[in-house]
Amino acid sequence: MRHNLRVAKNCAPHSRILAVVKANAYGHGLERGMRGFAEADGLGLIEVDNAARLRQLGWQKRILLLEGFFDADDLQTIAVHQIDTVVHCVEQLQMLEQASLNAKLDVHLKINSGMNRLGFMPAVCRDIYQRLRAIPAVRNISFITHFANAENAANANLPLSEQLQRFQTATQGLPGDRCLSNSAADLMHPECAADWVRPGVMLYGGTPADTSAAAFGLQPAMTLSSEIIGIQHIAAGDAVGYGSSFVASGPMTIGVVACGYADGYPRHAPSGTPVIVDGVRTQMVGRVSMDMITVDLTPVATAGVGSPVILWGQGLPIDEVANAAGTVGYELMCAIAPRVRIVESENV
Ligand SMILES: *Cc1c(COP(=O)(O)O)cnc(C)c1O
Repeated sequence: MRHNLRVAKNCAPHSRILAVVKANAYGHGLERGMRGFAEADGLGLIEVDNAARLRQLGWQKRILLLEGFFDADDLQTIAVHQIDTVVHCVEQLQMLEQASLNAKLDVHLKINSGMNRLGFMPAVCRDIYQRLRAIPAVRNISFITHFANAENAANANLPLSEQLQRFQTATQGLPGDRCLSNSAADLMHPECAADWVRPGVMLYGGTPADTSAAAFGLQPAMTLSSEIIGIQHIAAGDAVGYGSSFVASGPMTIGVVACGYADGYPRHAPSGTPVIVDGVRTQMVGRVSMDMITVDLTPVATAGVGSPVILWGQGLPIDEVANAAGTVGYELMCAIAPRVRIVESENV
């Protein structure tokens, strides 16, 4: 995590870094994220309770709520803990106008530059800015937007340059820090690096683009590993697992791995999804079950009960497994289940 943060910094040497630690630091653990990103200038997340927890854990630099607050009670919490908030809609603005707060707040005016998810339309940005400016409890006002296509800047429906242009037009001449880039923009579009950048997935060693994480110089923060707990020798015509969807075309050795969808391994991963056993790359066969997957040990001469298995991470990019399963590395990271034991190691 420390290494990947340095990669993010090198991509945007003049920007401050808001490391995104939402969703339990993309499955890595909030406190671990806080320690791994100790050098960051701030942390960004969604959950108000976790923002307060970061303060309790001792984080003193900026904390930003990326979707802002959800009700008026949250406002008291964020004032007490000095948490920055996004303001993305009129309802939030009204709550701020009506609140009586004992402390001043830094707010981040979110602009809808084309994603059409959260944020104010560029045309009303100046009015919203003035309304925020008139609230006594509002201290600094910054500007933020989020890209729909930073990993594919030439997207025909919404090119990155169009979003950048809309943001610049909306905020032109208004004082305040700007923050636009997610991981993909940080890695591939230095022209978007502003006062701040907001990388997430890259900090955990996932790639947001078609380019591999390794090609960007990123290292996997998470390795999901297990062991072989059983072996079956099967013949041509024998089937494996629920639904008997995989049928051997010749004699095979099947290894049973103690890891299933209740651990966060994607249930929809098909036969052929890569896996490493005893340092040898092979593949999953048959359906993923709750507590187990089955793998082809035929090419792994040394394998036996107890052989180490890597599901993703060191030596097997999470994005490759995600692609095979029809999803993204983000989803696999976030879905690591509570029963998975986390072992920390230092290998940077
Ligand atoms: C999640 C998130 C990010 C980080 O995105 P990555 O693609 O993981 O880098 C940045 N900004 C906002 C508002 C987010 O919600």
